Amino acid sequence: MARLLSAYQKKRDFKKTKEPVGKKKAGGKRPTAWGVAQRRPIFVIQQHAARAMHYDLRLEIGGVLVSWAVPKGPSLNPKTKRLAVMTEDHPMEYGKFEGIIPKGQYGAGPVIVWDRGTYKNLRDKDGKIVSMETCLREGRIEIFLRGKKLKGAFALIRMRGAVGTKSQWLLIKLKDEYADARRNPVSSEPESVKTGKTIKDWKEKLKVK
Ligand code: MN
Repeated sequence: MARLLSAYQKKRDFKKTKEPVGKKKAGGKRPTAWGVAQRRPIFVIQQHAARAMHYDLRLEIGGVLVSWAVPKGPSLNPKTKRLAVMTEDHPMEYGKFEGIIPKGQYGAGPVIVWDRGTYKNLRDKDGKIVSMETCLREGRIEIFLRGKKLKGAFALIRMRGAVGTKSQWLLIKLKDEYADARRNPVSSEPESVKTGKTIKDWKEKLKVK
């Protein structure tokens, strides 16, 4: 079943926000400015200072960016579980969006591309890869991220609610050589991997206007 972007489009007034419209159906243009091999599916994490600060984790699945809002952002400590609440699918083009969602609009506030890269699906059954669509349906995703800030294996496990908007998941770093309880890129690396800007920079810009 093709994933639709109608929920995404209904929430936004594209005359007012510069966020990408996207197509009706899945399969929009993949961002090309990644600087990494494009055959692999992409992921992006956007830091978003809406009413409450959060990190939007998006994974390319079935031609859209399947999305979760992670209030505290990712942790590299396998003992730390981070709540991830599923949000509506976003168009592929959203992966490069950075800027300000204007006042009065859905999710008003600055957005930066906090990290981006590609991912590899780690789940297999009897030597066969379990498709990401199946992982999603089963509420169990295990992926290896190759980003600028984040590397290594992570799991997304559904805890509550049917798969879809508002279902609650946990984002957990899996144990591997990249696990690191001392490194905390959410606080130590606040810059956009796209522009070098921080959320604070965007907020300052709003003030001078
Ligand atoms: Mn958001």
